[in-house]
Amino acid sequence: MSNEELQKLKERYVAAGAASPNQQFADHARNAELWDANGKRMIDFAGGIGVLNIGHRHPKVVEAVKAQLDKLMHTCQTVMPYEGYVRVAEKLSQVVPVRGHAKVMLANSGAEALENALKIARAATGKTNVICFDGGYHGRTFMTMAMNGKVAPYATDFGPMPGTVFRAPYPVPYHGVSEDEALRGLKMVLKTDANPKDTAAVVIEPVLGEGGFYQASASFLKKIREICDEHGMLMIADEVQSGFGRTGKMFAIEHSGVEPDIMTMAKSMADGMPISAIVGTDKVMDASGPNSLGGTYTGSPTACAAALAVMEVFEEEDILGQSQALGEKLAKHFAQWQEKFEHVDNVRNLGPMAAIELVTDKQSREPRADLAAKVTAYAKEHGLILLSCGLYGNTIRFLMPVTIEDDVLEEGMQIVEDALASL
Ligand code: PMP
Repeated sequence: MSNEELQKLKERYVAAGAASPNQQFADHARNAELWDANGKRMIDFAGGIGVLNIGHRHPKVVEAVKAQLDKLMHTCQTVMPYEGYVRVAEKLSQVVPVRGHAKVMLANSGAEALENALKIARAATGKTNVICFDGGYHGRTFMTMAMNGKVAPYATDFGPMPGTVFRAPYPVPYHGVSEDEALRGLKMVLKTDANPKDTAAVVIEPVLGEGGFYQASASFLKKIREICDEHGMLMIADEVQSGFGRTGKMFAIEHSGVEPDIMTMAKSMADGMPISAIVGTDKVMDASGPNSLGGTYTGSPTACAAALAVMEVFEEEDILGQSQALGEKLAKHFAQWQEKFEHVDNVRNLGPMAAIELVTDKQSREPRADLAAKVTAYAKEHGLILLSCGLYGNTIRFLMPVTIEDDVLEEGMQIVEDALASL
């Protein structure tokens, strides 16, 4: 079916809140290229929002999923467990930087990972409140909607949110929120609203995802760790977007040396198969009773087969080395753009978790979401999928596969440069 025919079906049958505004439909893809239903080629700098760090349909993952389909598709692991689930748990336990010996629970999506991390944190501490950050994004379930730094569009139409969520400032020095100010804000929230005696956890993205790829420094993350320890709160690192090689290391928190109690991960964990994980210190992870965690599909055999294949690809193809190299290439382009274009500023990257900001000019730093929208629209017209994001909607983020071929990368970067020149 063509884009136009599919668009008609979408308008008639897909719920308004779930319908993509994009009228191009994806048909097939390979590594960093994708073709729409009308056969138009697009370069993919969005990677399904950070899901495809090793590229669309990595051959080893496709092969592993096909082999699994021939053996076993489902039992519900609480009815009868299977090898994939426990092997994914073993592998993750060996690579996460959490404190002490790690145990694992698998789920289906990022939001579910956060929901379960909070359940576990409540069980382990006997406390209920949670502190999150401005600009944070954690999902679209009730708890995670309440945790998001932004209300609109996620929580606008759904009535009251759970009242156990409190929010502190995330440090964004470029826009006037220093680390000291963010810490003062956190301490104030603890003192006035959340109360450490009632607060189970602080949930932080080491690099904000949807909030704009702003990085928390090692010193800020260390202070969060100290505050959590002081008050018997758990530190939860949400690595749903920053994990699995996006920042040049397996997980973004590793850049700081800080060990959280719990980590949540999803996205690039299985190259597009729906799976997520909650990984934490064994004592914490074992805090809730039998059959209190999980669900019918959590950690399904096919998703686990994909996750295991992804971890093999990381080992066999030096994905972290490729990630670091891509980060350096992006930084070089960004430095040139910042020099050349008045509207480009605050370029930043942790490996290839990279972004530029569009502002009126470098003196005013006034965020310009309208310019970011022009850049992404220009890119789309010229065959490039590019995403904006951020507290101010003026950040362009780069989430292409780290396995992208050099010529495809340069072709895509030239389209971005032409878009910036057209402003
Ligand atoms: N946490 C972070 C940091 C995310 O970036 C996202 C998704 N963008 C989520 C949680 C929610 O993940 P999902 O969409 O799979 O529910």
